[in-house]
Amino acid sequence: MPEPSVLASLVSGLTSGSIRIVDLTSPLSSSTPIIQLPPEFGQTATFELEEISRYDDRGPAWYWNNFRTGEHTGTHFDAPNHWATGKHLHDVASVPASRLIAPAVVLDFTAEAAEDPDFLVEVDHVKAWEADHGPLPRGGWLLLRTGWDDRSITQDSFLNADENGPHTPGLSVECARWVAQESPVIGLGVETVGTDAGRAHSFDPAFPCHSYLMGSDKYGLTQLRNLATLPPTGAVVIAGPLPIVTGSGAPARVLALVEG
Ligand code: MN
Repeated sequence: MPEPSVLASLVSGLTSGSIRIVDLTSPLSSSTPIIQLPPEFGQTATFELEEISRYDDRGPAWYWNNFRTGEHTGTHFDAPNHWATGKHLHDVASVPASRLIAPAVVLDFTAEAAEDPDFLVEVDHVKAWEADHGPLPRGGWLLLRTGWDDRSITQDSFLNADENGPHTPGLSVECARWVAQESPVIGLGVETVGTDAGRAHSFDPAFPCHSYLMGSDKYGLTQLRNLATLPPTGAVVIAGPLPIVTGSGAPARVLALVEG
């Protein structure tokens, strides 16, 4: 008997349940937390539905809505042109589709983030992880598990801000630079409201994950959930941002395929 094709094996794995599909996407609603910038800057809009008709006089047999949202709301994809460092690079619609399906590894810093919400991952943390699990995947995602998805119930607990600004975990400046410029991954995925740590507004450069990743033609994925159910290595991530022409990012349905 000939070997089954790779796609036939995939379908058989999905049918038998030996390949699981994990939804990494946070639900999108008017209560989805959004980032808040200092008041001197423009602000992103919360997600809002506007009902067009619901089986009524406005449309007797159909229900549909318009929606309004910031590009960077909920689980979303950051395109290179989101940041000044990547302004001549791809918009979200022109990111090659071949880069939207990619392997992923999960680095778990839940314990560290529980102890210190301002916890920053350093290059040495990633290298220690690589010593145990092998190199970061070429063309894949580094997914940062911090336990922050449990806090997405309310805007306040998710942003975790005080008078000095938000306190959420992320990467150090040097780690952001290393991931962007030296590691083989195409992007960083996080559970928090943005790829940068809460305190990153005061780093040099400010928002180093955005600055270095976008400037290196790499991507961000935010407000992921269910990373706890993924293995450290071996998952495949399918990230589907809306192809907003000229857009800087878009809400995305993000799924992971996991074996076993
Ligand atoms: Mn974003």
